[in-house]
Amino acid sequence: NLSKLKEALPIIETLEAHGHTAFIVGGAVRNYLLDIPINDVDITTSALPDEVEQIFARTVPVGKEHGTIMVLDAGVPFEVTTYRIDGEYKDFRRPDDVIFVSDLKEDLLRRDFTINALALDRDFRVIDYTGGQNDLQHHLIRAVGNPYTRFYEDALRMLRACRFQSVLDFQIENSTMTAMNRHSELIRHIAIERIILEFRKLLQGKNPKAAMKTMEDSALHTYIPVLDQLTPLLLPEKDVTLEAYFGFCLYKRMITVQDIVKLKLSNHEVKAIKDSGNIYEELFSAQYTERLLLYYYGKKLVVNCLQLLAALQIEVSLTNQQVDSIYRELTIKERADIAVDGYVLMTHLSRQGGSWLKSLLSSIEEQIVLGKLLNNKEDILKWVDNNVKI
Ligand code: ATP
Ligand code: MG
Repeated sequence: NLSKLKEALPIIETLEAHGHTAFIVGGAVRNYLLDIPINDVDITTSALPDEVEQIFARTVPVGKEHGTIMVLDAGVPFEVTTYRIDGEYKDFRRPDDVIFVSDLKEDLLRRDFTINALALDRDFRVIDYTGGQNDLQHHLIRAVGNPYTRFYEDALRMLRACRFQSVLDFQIENSTMTAMNRHSELIRHIAIERIILEFRKLLQGKNPKAAMKTMEDSALHTYIPVLDQLTPLLLPEKDVTLEAYFGFCLYKRMITVQDIVKLKLSNHEVKAIKDSGNIYEELFSAQYTERLLLYYYGKKLVVNCLQLLAALQIEVSLTNQQVDSIYRELTIKERADIAVDGYVLMTHLSRQGGSWLKSLLSSIEEQIVLGKLLNNKEDILKWVDNNVKI
């Protein structure tokens, strides 16, 4: 962690050498003080975006209108953001426009929770205007300032409180919680994309169950598409993936494939949810074959589904250890690994391509995965001669 923070020092020193102030802020400071892994190190500075671009040789204007310039000079990329406060809040959402300010304090006070409103200077001294260090010690998530106002300004912060509750396994401080109970309905105004980002992190945290209990207690989930249909809300005891979670809801018929569309996920994510739904379907059917399951869906999804079942304390016979060894022993991992292709089969049988070819390849594939046929050209063609009637 320390070495990761130290990589940011040359950037801070360069900004200071140009007469600006600069600090490490946000999640990196929080995680450093908690001694847990840091994701990315964000730097905040009095320098305006144009000035940051002038000072450093290699920059990318990743979010220049919000004050963020990515600086590549240190070898690893750092996001450098000008001290700012939010513009006017409309519709309970974070505003698009920001106002640049010259004071670190103002920048820290616009942040969501005290534990996220800490800064470190280049000597690793902590700057704390909100009692964030004290709250870190007491494992508390407390809104900066008046929680009602802060949730009214940006309703996503309520879900972020739950996210940090799960990720850090902290408690939400009382007045912050009371404000959430009162304002939960405002989450309606938040774009589903932003909600999903937080919800995914919540599910992957240390204590998703506690965080989702908070969502239930405050009724927050009842104002979120798809989650509003889950009665009761599934409460996993340990970290799970979003895909395994919604896959299980699909399997349980609590939601439909059309509902998944409302989450505005990528095609890849939607497929993973549907596949996960099918994996549960197979796991709970009497006649599935472990090898075929692992071959068709891949090890990762199956492992994630097993983790979800374990998190819900639902028992199945397949264990992670079995998954490892069964997957390792699969003689092919994908269709491209088969020792013959369509062309070889067409030539061997002197036939034109057609739907027969696809189904023949599927049969060969299944025989190989099941270990009934060896994956070499000679054996495969012999099997074809014995099994295909022309
Ligand atoms: P992670 O390690 O998961 O990235 P993080 O604390 O860096 O955690 P981000 O979502 O990356 O979380 O946000 C970075 C920082 O920006 C936060 O620590 C917080 O200070 C501030 N922030 C982010 N979103 C909001 C918001 N909606 N309202 C106020 N401040 C916010
Ligand atoms: Mg971050």
